[in-house]
Amino acid sequence: MEINKTKEGLTLKADSTKTKDGEYIITGKITGDIEVECVKCLKPFLKHIDEDIKFKVVKPPYNGFDEEYDIIEQEKLNVDEILESEIESIKNDFSNICESCIKEEFNEEF
Ligand SMILES: [Zn+2]
Repeated sequence: MEINKTKEGLTLKADSTKTKDGEYIITGKITGDIEVECVKCLKPFLKHIDEDIKFKVVKPPYNGFDEEYDIIEQEKLNVDEILESEIESIKNDFSNICESCIKEEFNEEF
């Protein structure tokens, strides 16, 4: 099944395959520009995202371990929720620093 979803400026483009155990393998990319808040000056700025994703959607509770895939526990496959939680984690990334703050830091150090 092909996935093509856009939310808050980010597009999830991926392929999903159902395994014989009822799990879903989702591989693809998240791309786009999303508005995030700078952790230093708290001003919103656009962050460019270009990320490969490799998810395995499993039914909870999941006690396994997977080296190849990021595990997502869902009772039922919900692509919207996956994209939303990706957006959430991008927004909460402590490395979200706007360009003017990066420049400032650079000037302080040299
Ligand atoms: Zn800033």
